[in-house]
Amino acid sequence: REKTEDISPLHTCIFLGGINLTLLDNSMSAQQFLKQKATSNSASGNEDAFYVADLGDIMQKHCQFMKELPRVKPFYAVKCNSTREVLQTLAYLGTGFACCSTAELDMVLRMGVPATDIVYANPCKQISHIRYAAEHGVRRMTFDCESELFKIAASYPQAEMILQIVADNRDSWHSLSGKCGVHINECENLLEKAKSLNIQVFGVSFHTGSGCKNTHSFRKAIEDARKAFDIGKKLGYKMRILDIGGGFPGDTEFLPTFEKFAEVINKSLDQCFSCNEDVEIIAEPGRYYVSSAFTAALNIVTKKEVTKKDGEGRRTLSYILNDGTFGSFLLNYLQIEEKNLKPFVGKDFDTALELFPSILWGPTCASEDEILNNVDLPELEMGDWIFFPNMGAYTISMNSNFNAFAAPKVYFVLTKEKSL
Ligand code: PLP
Repeated sequence: REKTEDISPLHTCIFLGGINLTLLDNSMSAQQFLKQKATSNSASGNEDAFYVADLGDIMQKHCQFMKELPRVKPFYAVKCNSTREVLQTLAYLGTGFACCSTAELDMVLRMGVPATDIVYANPCKQISHIRYAAEHGVRRMTFDCESELFKIAASYPQAEMILQIVADNRDSWHSLSGKCGVHINECENLLEKAKSLNIQVFGVSFHTGSGCKNTHSFRKAIEDARKAFDIGKKLGYKMRILDIGGGFPGDTEFLPTFEKFAEVINKSLDQCFSCNEDVEIIAEPGRYYVSSAFTAALNIVTKKEVTKKDGEGRRTLSYILNDGTFGSFLLNYLQIEEKNLKPFVGKDFDTALELFPSILWGPTCASEDEILNNVDLPELEMGDWIFFPNMGAYTISMNSNFNAFAAPKVYFVLTKEKSL
Protein backbone atom coordinates (compact mmCIF):
# COMPACT_ATOMS: atom_id res chain seq x y z
CA ARG A 1 0.00 0.00 0.00
CA GLU A 2 2.95 2.28 0.52
CA LYS A 3 4.72 1.90 -2.77
CA THR A 4 3.29 3.87 -5.65
CA GLU A 5 6.40 5.05 -7.42
CA ASP A 6 8.24 3.56 -10.38
CA ILE A 7 5.46 1.17 -11.22
CA SER A 8 4.74 0.40 -14.86
CA PRO A 9 1.17 -0.17 -16.05
CA LEU A 10 1.90 -3.86 -16.31
CA HIS A 11 3.00 -3.99 -12.72
CA THR A 12 -0.05 -1.98 -11.77
CA CYS A 13 -2.19 -4.68 -13.39
CA ILE A 14 -0.45 -7.32 -11.35
CA PHE A 15 -0.97 -5.33 -8.16
CA LEU A 16 -4.62 -4.92 -9.07
CA GLY A 17 -4.78 -8.69 -9.54
CA GLY A 18 -8.45 -9.34 -8.74
CA ILE A 19 -9.67 -6.65 -11.13
CA ASN A 20 -10.88 -7.52 -14.56
CA LEU A 21 -9.37 -4.73 -16.62
CA THR A 22 -8.05 -4.12 -20.11
CA LEU A 23 -4.60 -2.66 -20.43
CA LEU A 24 -4.61 -0.27 -23.39
CA ASP A 25 -1.39 0.25 -25.25
CA ASN A 26 -0.02 3.58 -26.43
CA SER A 27 -2.10 3.69 -29.56
CA MET A 28 -5.50 3.61 -27.88
CA SER A 29 -7.20 6.11 -25.56
CA ALA A 30 -10.08 5.26 -23.21
CA GLN A 31 -12.41 7.18 -25.53
CA GLN A 32 -11.35 5.13 -28.54
CA PHE A 33 -11.92 1.98 -26.51
CA LEU A 34 -15.39 3.26 -25.62
CA LYS A 35 -16.31 3.77 -29.28
CA GLN A 36 -14.89 0.41 -30.24
CA LYS A 37 -16.81 -1.30 -27.43
CA ALA A 38 -20.05 0.36 -28.51
CA THR A 39 -19.55 -0.84 -32.08
CA SER A 40 -18.61 -4.39 -31.11
CA ASN A 41 -21.45 -4.66 -28.58
CA SER A 42 -23.96 -3.50 -31.21
CA ALA A 43 -22.55 -5.98 -33.72
CA SER A 44 -23.13 -8.82 -31.27
CA GLY A 45 -26.69 -7.65 -30.51
CA ASN A 46 -25.84 -6.18 -27.11
CA GLU A 47 -27.33 -2.69 -26.83
CA ASP A 48 -27.19 -2.50 -23.02
CA ALA A 49 -25.98 0.76 -21.51
CA PHE A 50 -22.45 0.49 -20.16
CA TYR A 51 -19.58 2.48 -18.72
CA VAL A 52 -15.91 2.67 -19.53
CA ALA A 53 -13.79 3.64 -16.53
CA ASP A 54 -10.13 4.55 -16.82
CA LEU A 55 -8.35 3.55 -13.62
CA GLY A 56 -5.32 5.44 -14.92
CA ASP A 57 -7.34 8.64 -14.62
CA ILE A 58 -7.93 7.88 -10.93
CA MET A 59 -4.20 7.23 -10.45
CA GLN A 60 -3.37 10.52 -12.10
CA LYS A 61 -5.83 12.33 -9.84
CA HIS A 62 -4.14 10.78 -6.83
CA CYS A 63 -0.70 11.98 -7.98
CA GLN A 64 -2.14 15.45 -8.50
CA PHE A 65 -3.72 15.44 -5.04
CA MET A 66 -0.45 14.44 -3.35
CA LYS A 67 1.48 17.04 -5.33
CA GLU A 68 -0.92 19.95 -4.87
CA LEU A 69 -1.95 19.29 -1.25
CA PRO A 70 1.23 17.85 0.30
CA ARG A 71 0.05 18.34 3.89
CA VAL A 72 -3.26 16.55 3.36
CA LYS A 73 -3.92 12.80 3.33
CA PRO A 74 -6.97 11.83 1.25
CA PHE A 75 -9.62 9.53 2.74
CA TYR A 76 -11.79 8.65 -0.27
CA ALA A 77 -15.56 9.08 0.33
CA VAL A 78 -16.85 5.58 -0.44
CA LYS A 79 -20.45 6.73 -1.02
CA CYS A 80 -19.45 8.56 -4.18
CA ASN A 81 -18.67 5.43 -6.17
CA SER A 82 -18.16 2.18 -4.32
CA THR A 83 -17.35 -0.15 -7.21
CA ARG A 84 -14.86 -2.71 -5.99
CA GLU A 85 -12.35 -1.78 -8.70
CA VAL A 86 -12.31 1.87 -7.63
CA LEU A 87 -11.89 0.99 -3.97
CA GLN A 88 -9.18 -1.53 -4.74
CA THR A 89 -7.27 0.96 -6.90
CA LEU A 90 -7.39 3.55 -4.15
CA ALA A 91 -6.40 1.03 -1.49
CA TYR A 92 -3.46 0.10 -3.69
CA LEU A 93 -2.50 3.78 -3.94
CA GLY A 94 -2.64 4.03 -0.14
CA THR A 95 -5.52 6.45 0.40
CA GLY A 96 -7.63 6.18 3.52
CA PHE A 97 -11.42 5.82 3.31
CA ALA A 98 -14.35 7.84 4.64
CA CYS A 99 -17.32 5.54 5.33
CA CYS A 100 -20.87 6.33 6.35
CA SER A 101 -22.44 2.95 7.14
CA THR A 102 -21.49 -0.53 8.29
CA ALA A 103 -21.77 -1.82 4.73
CA GLU A 104 -19.23 0.77 3.58
CA LEU A 105 -16.96 -0.06 6.51
CA ASP A 106 -17.25 -3.70 5.62
CA MET A 107 -16.35 -3.20 1.95
CA VAL A 108 -13.17 -1.40 2.89
CA LEU A 109 -12.16 -3.62 5.82
CA ARG A 110 -12.58 -6.73 3.65
CA MET A 111 -9.94 -5.36 1.27
CA GLY A 112 -7.45 -5.40 4.12
CA VAL A 113 -7.45 -1.66 4.75
CA PRO A 114 -6.36 -1.07 8.37
CA ALA A 115 -9.01 0.39 10.67
CA THR A 116 -6.66 3.30 11.35
CA ASP A 117 -7.03 4.33 7.68
CA ILE A 118 -10.78 4.69 8.01
CA VAL A 119 -12.84 7.58 9.30
CA TYR A 120 -16.50 6.93 10.08
CA ALA A 121 -17.70 10.20 8.57
CA ASN A 122 -21.38 10.20 9.41
CA PRO A 123 -22.16 12.44 12.38
CA CYS A 124 -25.44 10.62 13.15
CA LYS A 125 -25.01 6.88 13.51
CA GLN A 126 -27.26 3.99 14.45
CA ILE A 127 -26.14 2.47 17.78
CA SER A 128 -25.56 -0.98 16.27
CA HIS A 129 -23.35 0.68 13.64
CA ILE A 130 -21.31 2.36 16.35
CA ARG A 131 -20.87 -1.05 17.98
CA TYR A 132 -19.83 -2.53 14.64
CA ALA A 133 -17.14 0.14 14.30
CA ALA A 134 -16.02 -0.61 17.87
CA GLU A 135 -15.77 -4.35 17.17
CA HIS A 136 -13.60 -3.65 14.13
CA GLY A 137 -11.38 -1.05 15.73
CA VAL A 138 -12.56 1.91 13.65
CA ARG A 139 -12.03 4.64 16.19
CA ARG A 140 -12.28 7.91 14.33
CA MET A 141 -15.80 9.18 13.87
CA THR A 142 -17.54 12.51 13.43
CA PHE A 143 -20.30 14.00 15.61
CA ASP A 144 -22.28 17.23 15.63
CA CYS A 145 -24.81 17.00 18.48
CA GLU A 146 -25.40 16.02 22.06
CA SER A 147 -27.44 12.88 21.42
CA GLU A 148 -24.55 11.39 19.45
CA LEU A 149 -22.35 11.97 22.47
CA PHE A 150 -24.72 9.99 24.71
CA LYS A 151 -24.61 7.07 22.26
CA ILE A 152 -20.81 7.16 22.15
CA ALA A 153 -20.50 7.40 25.94
CA ALA A 154 -22.69 4.30 26.28
CA SER A 155 -21.38 2.17 23.41
CA TYR A 156 -17.88 3.24 22.45
CA PRO A 157 -16.08 5.50 24.94
CA GLN A 158 -12.72 4.69 23.29
CA ALA A 159 -13.84 6.37 20.05
CA GLU A 160 -11.73 9.28 18.82
CA MET A 161 -14.34 11.88 18.08
CA ILE A 162 -14.10 14.59 15.44
CA LEU A 163 -16.37 17.59 15.87
CA GLN A 164 -18.10 18.46 12.58
CA ILE A 165 -18.69 22.18 12.20
CA VAL A 166 -20.88 23.93 9.66
CA ALA A 167 -19.11 25.43 6.66
CA ASP A 168 -20.49 27.87 4.12
CA ASN A 169 -22.18 25.62 1.52
CA ARG A 170 -23.97 28.36 -0.43
CA ASP A 171 -21.71 28.11 -3.47
CA SER A 172 -21.91 24.35 -3.83
CA TRP A 173 -24.07 22.11 -6.00
CA HIS A 174 -25.19 20.07 -3.00
CA SER A 175 -25.36 21.58 0.43
CA LEU A 176 -24.66 19.35 3.41
CA SER A 177 -24.77 22.08 6.03
CA GLY A 178 -28.58 22.11 6.31
CA LYS A 179 -28.35 18.73 7.97
CA CYS A 180 -24.84 18.18 9.28
CA GLY A 181 -22.50 20.18 11.44
CA VAL A 182 -22.69 22.42 14.48
CA HIS A 183 -22.40 26.19 14.21
CA ILE A 184 -19.09 27.59 15.43
CA ASN A 185 -20.92 29.60 18.13
CA GLU A 186 -22.32 26.40 19.62
CA CYS A 187 -19.05 24.45 19.68
CA GLU A 188 -18.06 25.41 23.20
CA ASN A 189 -21.28 24.07 24.75
CA LEU A 190 -21.03 20.84 22.83
CA LEU A 191 -17.37 20.31 23.71
CA GLU A 192 -18.12 21.02 27.37
CA LYS A 193 -20.83 18.37 27.21
CA ALA A 194 -18.34 15.93 25.65
CA LYS A 195 -15.91 16.68 28.45
CA SER A 196 -18.53 16.05 31.10
CA LEU A 197 -19.23 12.63 29.51
CA ASN A 198 -15.51 11.76 29.40
CA ILE A 199 -15.56 11.55 25.64
CA GLN A 200 -12.29 11.88 23.77
CA VAL A 201 -12.41 14.62 21.17
CA PHE A 202 -9.43 14.61 18.82
CA GLY A 203 -10.25 17.05 16.09
CA VAL A 204 -12.51 19.07 13.87
CA SER A 205 -14.04 18.44 10.45
CA PHE A 206 -16.15 20.38 7.96
CA HIS A 207 -17.56 19.95 4.46
CA THR A 208 -17.96 22.90 2.09
CA GLY A 209 -20.66 21.05 0.11
CA SER A 210 -20.32 18.72 -2.83
CA GLY A 211 -19.34 20.41 -6.07
CA CYS A 212 -17.97 23.47 -4.31
CA LYS A 213 -17.49 26.43 -6.66
CA ASN A 214 -15.90 28.91 -4.30
CA THR A 215 -12.35 28.47 -3.07
CA HIS A 216 -13.02 30.94 -0.25
CA SER A 217 -15.53 28.57 1.35
CA PHE A 218 -12.46 26.52 2.28
CA ARG A 219 -10.57 29.55 3.57
CA LYS A 220 -13.41 30.54 5.87
CA ALA A 221 -14.01 26.95 7.03
CA ILE A 222 -10.31 26.47 7.89
CA GLU A 223 -10.42 29.69 9.93
CA ASP A 224 -13.49 28.45 11.80
CA ALA A 225 -11.84 25.07 12.36
CA ARG A 226 -8.94 26.92 13.97
CA LYS A 227 -11.37 28.61 16.36
CA ALA A 228 -12.96 25.25 17.22
CA PHE A 229 -9.49 23.76 17.77
CA ASP A 230 -8.66 26.52 20.23
CA ILE A 231 -11.90 26.02 22.13
CA GLY A 232 -11.09 22.31 22.39
CA LYS A 233 -7.56 23.03 23.58
CA LYS A 234 -8.85 25.48 26.17
CA LEU A 235 -11.02 22.69 27.55
CA GLY A 236 -7.97 20.44 27.82
CA TYR A 237 -8.41 18.36 24.69
CA LYS A 238 -5.38 17.31 22.63
CA MET A 239 -6.68 18.41 19.25
CA ARG A 240 -4.77 16.43 16.64
CA ILE A 241 -6.91 15.93 13.51
CA LEU A 242 -8.20 18.45 11.03
CA ASP A 243 -10.54 16.97 8.40
CA ILE A 244 -11.20 19.38 5.53
CA GLY A 245 -13.96 17.20 4.01
CA GLY A 246 -14.77 16.80 0.32
CA GLY A 247 -16.17 19.17 -2.29
CA PHE A 248 -13.15 19.27 -4.63
CA PRO A 249 -13.93 19.38 -8.37
CA GLY A 250 -13.75 16.14 -10.35
CA ASP A 251 -15.07 16.99 -13.82
CA THR A 252 -12.75 17.91 -16.64
CA GLU A 253 -12.94 21.65 -17.37
CA PHE A 254 -14.57 22.50 -14.02
CA LEU A 255 -13.76 25.98 -12.75
CA PRO A 256 -12.17 26.91 -10.42
CA THR A 257 -9.63 24.19 -11.08
CA PHE A 258 -8.38 21.82 -8.40
CA GLU A 259 -5.06 23.70 -8.44
CA LYS A 260 -6.87 26.93 -7.53
CA PHE A 261 -8.59 25.22 -4.60
CA ALA A 262 -5.26 23.76 -3.50
CA GLU A 263 -3.58 27.17 -3.63
CA VAL A 264 -6.17 28.70 -1.28
CA ILE A 265 -6.26 25.66 1.01
CA ASN A 266 -2.46 25.48 1.36
CA LYS A 267 -2.25 29.16 2.17
CA SER A 268 -5.04 28.97 4.76
CA LEU A 269 -3.55 25.84 6.33
CA ASP A 270 -0.17 27.51 6.65
CA GLN A 271 -1.78 30.57 8.23
CA CYS A 272 -4.02 28.70 10.66
CA PHE A 273 -2.26 25.38 11.32
CA SER A 274 1.49 25.79 11.40
CA CYS A 275 3.61 22.82 10.33
CA ASN A 276 5.15 22.86 13.82
CA GLU A 277 1.83 22.09 15.43
CA ASP A 278 1.30 18.33 15.69
CA VAL A 279 -1.85 18.17 13.55
CA GLU A 280 -2.71 15.46 11.05
CA ILE A 281 -4.65 16.96 8.15
CA ILE A 282 -6.98 14.72 6.19
CA ALA A 283 -9.66 15.24 3.51
CA GLU A 284 -12.64 13.23 2.27
CA PRO A 285 -12.62 13.72 -1.52
CA GLY A 286 -15.25 11.79 -3.47
CA ARG A 287 -16.10 13.25 -6.87
CA TYR A 288 -12.56 14.57 -7.32
CA TYR A 289 -11.22 11.03 -7.72
CA VAL A 290 -13.85 9.39 -9.87
CA SER A 291 -15.93 11.83 -11.89
CA SER A 292 -13.80 12.19 -15.01
CA ALA A 293 -12.68 8.54 -15.05
CA PHE A 294 -16.14 7.25 -16.00
CA THR A 295 -17.96 7.73 -19.30
CA ALA A 296 -21.46 6.33 -19.73
CA ALA A 297 -22.65 4.91 -23.07
CA LEU A 298 -26.42 4.86 -23.61
CA ASN A 299 -28.23 3.34 -26.56
CA ILE A 300 -31.26 4.79 -28.36
CA VAL A 301 -34.16 2.42 -27.76
CA THR A 302 -36.86 4.51 -29.46
CA LYS A 303 -36.95 7.69 -31.55
CA LYS A 304 -39.99 9.99 -31.71
CA GLU A 305 -40.67 13.20 -33.57
CA VAL A 306 -42.27 15.80 -31.31
CA THR A 307 -45.07 17.68 -33.05
CA LYS A 308 -44.29 21.06 -31.53
CA LYS A 309 -41.55 23.05 -33.22
CA ASP A 310 -39.08 25.10 -31.23
CA GLY A 311 -39.07 28.94 -31.29
CA GLU A 312 -37.10 28.96 -34.55
CA GLY A 313 -39.45 26.47 -36.24
CA ARG A 314 -36.95 23.60 -36.00
CA ARG A 315 -38.07 19.97 -35.63
CA THR A 316 -37.73 18.61 -32.11
CA LEU A 317 -36.62 15.00 -31.70
CA SER A 318 -37.20 12.81 -28.69
CA TYR A 319 -35.09 9.77 -27.84
CA ILE A 320 -35.71 7.06 -25.24
CA LEU A 321 -32.38 5.78 -23.91
CA ASN A 322 -31.62 2.76 -21.74
CA ASP A 323 -30.46 4.51 -18.55
CA GLY A 324 -32.10 7.46 -16.84
CA THR A 325 -33.02 9.35 -13.69
CA PHE A 326 -33.91 6.18 -11.78
CA GLY A 327 -30.53 4.75 -12.71
CA SER A 328 -27.31 6.69 -13.18
CA PHE A 329 -28.88 10.15 -13.57
CA LEU A 330 -30.49 10.84 -10.20
CA LEU A 331 -33.16 13.48 -10.74
CA ASN A 332 -32.26 15.79 -7.86
CA TYR A 333 -28.61 15.73 -8.74
CA LEU A 334 -29.29 16.13 -12.43
CA GLN A 335 -31.37 19.26 -12.00
CA ILE A 336 -28.55 20.90 -10.14
CA GLU A 337 -25.69 19.59 -12.21
CA GLU A 338 -27.51 19.61 -15.53
CA LYS A 339 -25.54 22.41 -17.06
CA ASN A 340 -22.50 20.27 -16.68
CA LEU A 341 -23.94 17.33 -18.58
CA LYS A 342 -22.41 17.39 -22.05
CA PRO A 343 -23.37 14.34 -24.08
CA PHE A 344 -21.70 13.54 -27.38
CA VAL A 345 -22.69 11.28 -30.21
CA GLY A 346 -21.05 7.88 -30.60
CA LYS A 347 -20.96 7.62 -34.39
CA ASP A 348 -18.92 9.93 -36.60
CA PHE A 349 -21.07 12.50 -38.32
CA ASP A 350 -20.58 15.39 -40.69
CA THR A 351 -20.20 18.43 -38.41
CA ALA A 352 -21.89 20.54 -41.11
CA LEU A 353 -25.14 18.60 -40.53
CA GLU A 354 -28.09 20.45 -39.06
CA LEU A 355 -28.56 20.09 -35.29
CA PHE A 356 -32.01 19.56 -33.77
CA PRO A 357 -33.30 20.38 -30.30
CA SER A 358 -33.51 16.95 -28.69
CA ILE A 359 -35.11 15.50 -25.57
CA LEU A 360 -33.34 12.59 -23.90
CA TRP A 361 -35.43 10.24 -21.75
CA GLY A 362 -34.59 7.25 -19.56
CA PRO A 363 -36.22 3.84 -20.06
CA THR A 364 -39.04 3.88 -17.46
CA CYS A 365 -42.57 5.12 -18.18
CA ALA A 366 -42.30 7.94 -15.62
CA SER A 367 -42.41 11.48 -17.02
CA GLU A 368 -39.78 12.39 -14.43
CA ASP A 369 -37.39 10.09 -16.24
CA GLU A 370 -36.07 12.94 -18.37
CA ILE A 371 -32.31 13.33 -18.63
CA LEU A 372 -32.14 16.49 -20.77
CA ASN A 373 -34.97 18.39 -22.36
CA ASN A 374 -33.21 20.63 -24.79
CA VAL A 375 -29.89 19.57 -26.15
CA ASP A 376 -28.77 20.19 -29.71
CA LEU A 377 -27.83 16.96 -31.51
CA PRO A 378 -27.66 15.80 -35.12
CA GLU A 379 -30.52 13.54 -36.17
CA LEU A 380 -29.91 10.09 -34.66
CA GLU A 381 -31.46 6.69 -35.19
CA MET A 382 -32.54 3.76 -33.05
CA GLY A 383 -29.47 1.77 -32.03
CA ASP A 384 -27.12 4.78 -32.10
CA TRP A 385 -25.03 5.51 -29.01
CA ILE A 386 -24.85 8.66 -26.92
CA PHE A 387 -21.92 9.10 -24.54
CA PHE A 388 -21.87 11.10 -21.29
CA PRO A 389 -18.44 12.04 -19.88
CA ASN A 390 -17.73 12.88 -16.21
CA MET A 391 -20.13 10.24 -14.93
CA GLY A 392 -18.18 8.64 -12.09
CA ALA A 393 -19.60 10.52 -9.11
CA TYR A 394 -22.99 9.84 -7.49
CA THR A 395 -24.22 7.88 -10.52
CA ILE A 396 -23.65 4.14 -10.19
CA SER A 397 -23.97 4.39 -6.42
CA MET A 398 -27.41 6.04 -6.73
CA ASN A 399 -29.02 3.40 -8.99
CA SER A 400 -32.53 2.73 -7.63
CA ASN A 401 -33.31 -0.50 -9.49
CA PHE A 402 -36.81 0.93 -10.25
CA ASN A 403 -38.45 -1.27 -12.92
CA ALA A 404 -35.52 -3.64 -12.33
CA PHE A 405 -33.52 -2.25 -15.23
CA ALA A 406 -30.06 -3.70 -14.72
CA ALA A 407 -27.29 -1.32 -13.67
CA PRO A 408 -24.89 -0.71 -16.57
CA LYS A 409 -21.83 -2.94 -16.72
CA VAL A 410 -18.51 -1.17 -16.22
CA TYR A 411 -15.51 -2.00 -18.42
CA PHE A 412 -12.36 -1.01 -16.58
CA VAL A 413 -9.33 0.02 -18.61
CA LEU A 414 -5.87 1.24 -17.77
CA THR A 415 -4.34 3.61 -20.28
CA LYS A 416 -0.59 3.54 -20.51
CA GLU A 417 -0.29 7.31 -20.73
CA LYS A 418 -2.24 7.87 -17.51
CA SER A 419 -1.19 5.03 -15.23
CA LEU A 420 1.66 5.32 -12.77
N1 PLP B 1 -17.72 13.35 3.21
C1 PLP B 1 -19.03 13.41 3.52
C2 PLP B 1 -19.43 13.33 4.96
C3 PLP B 1 -20.00 13.59 2.53
O1 PLP B 1 -21.30 13.64 2.85
C4 PLP B 1 -19.56 13.68 1.17
C5 PLP B 1 -20.53 13.88 0.09
O2 PLP B 1 -21.70 14.01 0.23
C6 PLP B 1 -18.19 13.58 0.90
C7 PLP B 1 -17.30 13.44 1.93
C8 PLP B 1 -17.65 13.66 -0.49
O3 PLP B 1 -17.91 14.86 -1.12
P1 PLP B 1 -17.39 15.15 -2.58
O4 PLP B 1 -17.80 14.00 -3.43
O5 PLP B 1 -18.04 16.41 -2.99
O6 PLP B 1 -15.91 15.29 -2.51
